[in-house]
Amino acid sequence: MAGQESAPTPEAAARSEQDGRPAPGPIGAEVDVIAELRARVRQQEAVAELGQLAMGTTDMCELLPRVAHVVRHTLRASRVGVLELQADGLLDRTADPPVVLGFDLIRGTTLETALATGRPAHVHDYDLLDATEMPPLRAINDVASAVSVPIDGRDGLWGILVVSHREAGGIGTQELLFLQQVTHLVGSAVERSRSDARIRHQALHDALTGLPNRVLLRRQVDGALSQRPPVSCAVLMLDLDGFKDVNDALGHAVGDQVLVSVAVRLEAIVGTTGVLARLGGDEFAVLQHAATWESAADLARQVRSAFAHPFRVGDLTIPLSASVGIALSPEHGDDTSTLLRRADVAMYRAKVTRAGWAGYDHDLDRAQTERLTVIGELRRAVTVEHGGDPTPERPSGDGHLTLHFQPVVDLRTGEPWGTEALVRWQHPRRGLVPPLDFIGLAEQSRVIGPLTVRVIDEALRLTGDWAEAGLRTGPVAVNVSMHCLSDAATFATIRHRLLEARDRLVVEVTESSLADSAARAALRDLAAEGVVCAIDDFGTGYSSLVHLRDLPVRTLKVDRTFVRDLATSSRDRAIVRAVVDLAEAMGLGVVAEGIETPEVAAILVDLGVERGQGFWWARPMPAGEMVTWWSGRARAARSR
Ligand code: C2E
Ligand code: MG
Repeated sequence: MAGQESAPTPEAAARSEQDGRPAPGPIGAEVDVIAELRARVRQQEAVAELGQLAMGTTDMCELLPRVAHVVRHTLRASRVGVLELQADGLLDRTADPPVVLGFDLIRGTTLETALATGRPAHVHDYDLLDATEMPPLRAINDVASAVSVPIDGRDGLWGILVVSHREAGGIGTQELLFLQQVTHLVGSAVERSRSDARIRHQALHDALTGLPNRVLLRRQVDGALSQRPPVSCAVLMLDLDGFKDVNDALGHAVGDQVLVSVAVRLEAIVGTTGVLARLGGDEFAVLQHAATWESAADLARQVRSAFAHPFRVGDLTIPLSASVGIALSPEHGDDTSTLLRRADVAMYRAKVTRAGWAGYDHDLDRAQTERLTVIGELRRAVTVEHGGDPTPERPSGDGHLTLHFQPVVDLRTGEPWGTEALVRWQHPRRGLVPPLDFIGLAEQSRVIGPLTVRVIDEALRLTGDWAEAGLRTGPVAVNVSMHCLSDAATFATIRHRLLEARDRLVVEVTESSLADSAARAALRDLAAEGVVCAIDDFGTGYSSLVHLRDLPVRTLKVDRTFVRDLATSSRDRAIVRAVVDLAEAMGLGVVAEGIETPEVAAILVDLGVERGQGFWWARPMPAGEMVTWWSGRARAARSR
């Protein structure tokens, strides 16, 4: 464009100054040495001031207007702008509020030239330009001269520093050098601020989905809870059901893509009504602002509906669902930690009940806390040596497991035939806890594996000790939960113990275990290896006769609910008779449990039951008492 030039480079300007010649300055400018020196000092001071300022802040909203102010003051310019290059034009960061100068607005100006060349462009004197080429900005600002200096960031041009002057030649070579120092300073500050923002973003966002992370969610909840006057908010905690299987079966790369798709769907639902965060793994959370119970429940339903269609990764179609828990402020908590924890408790409940979504409930929380405490205690109690009291090294307030034994008697002779080992938890506060109070928890929390290992080891150790001392107590029955058979790792740990002691043990599995195919396979394997297996609680577990026919078990243990009232209930007698017939037809033995009276024992003999156990002979008792009981029976038998 006529009359508009790209300015000399600072190097060229510096060279010509060293030559003692004035650098090519504004057209027709007279150089007043004193004034120029003063100006130079002012400029150096300004650079020092801006340098300090730039070092002290990464807040560009603070720095850039200040830069404009200092430059304007130093150069006595009419106007200074710091303009950031954007997709639709140049954003004036020094205007309040910032305005965008569209690219069409800057056509023909020094701004356009600087943008195009990436070098400073200035007009020494607008009056020397053709009227037809008068840039529009001149008309607006009434300037005689102007310069646009590019500001470079790390990735290229960041923006332009534009200075306009009322005087023609108001910006000379020296001023240009000064402005280039300033733009250099601004470029570095912008870069620092960007990397600062990047680091802050990384610290507060999840790398995979780009969503806010737990830290940022907590801050947002903090903010929502500190509003005055208070406004209710809801936290929805969300966990994908069965996501672990996706990761395990299809690999983490596919898992990651699914998580990204989940984030996209959830974002579409949450929109601007709240904050969606990924807390890690397959856990997401939503903070809903200005929430009511209805709005939170509605959001939970929408979130669940996001999983109505399966996810697609390449050719794979992956169906998923999510469990959602809701906690609402202030009734479920007025601090962030409580609210998040309670949303989590509700989510857990939604998961175990398979309800899909659930709100927090104080009573259930108490029960769940208690449950978790008991599981923790039990886990520790399982690792404590049998019969071991707490020691300073092992200050167990959690007690220890101990075994009681109940004799199994030959009903026709009345002689003891064997024993059943029954676990108890000797707890320091609760006393002797019966197995039905903790076996279920042990099964749910996978403590059952180590617990069963301990029971088997201890039963074998004690009966082995008795045998060595000359007391042969026959086979010892141990109860093995379905979980120990169906879980491959747990089964592997108990299997070799059972095989090693196959001539001394009976494995009792509940009838309900037979419903599980992996457990049936494990039983078949044990039986094939010569381990004697019995079906416990027979008659209560709805087992299919097909399973019974195909399983190599040796004994059916009739559940005590059919035995208890045998003397008075003809129906129970009919059931026991049927079991005996069935067993006989299949070549199995029958044991009855829960025999409390001699009448019942006599009826069982009549019905053809071979063995039994019950309070009539002995309650389950500690190992020491068992030895005394058995020795007494043996002596009595000898003296008969
Ligand atoms: P179970 O295997 O059917 O054990 C028999 C239960 O009947 C024992 O209860 C025993 O005390 C009780 N019993 C025996 N005779 C009579 C009687 O004449 N009348 C009455 N009312 N009850 C009698 P216990 O010791 O409370 O054990 C309950 C259940 O806990 C056991 O039922 C078994 O399923 C489970 N269990 C016990 N120890 C273990 C273990 O080490 N592992 C696993 N997985 N389960 C165990
Ligand atoms: Mg049993």
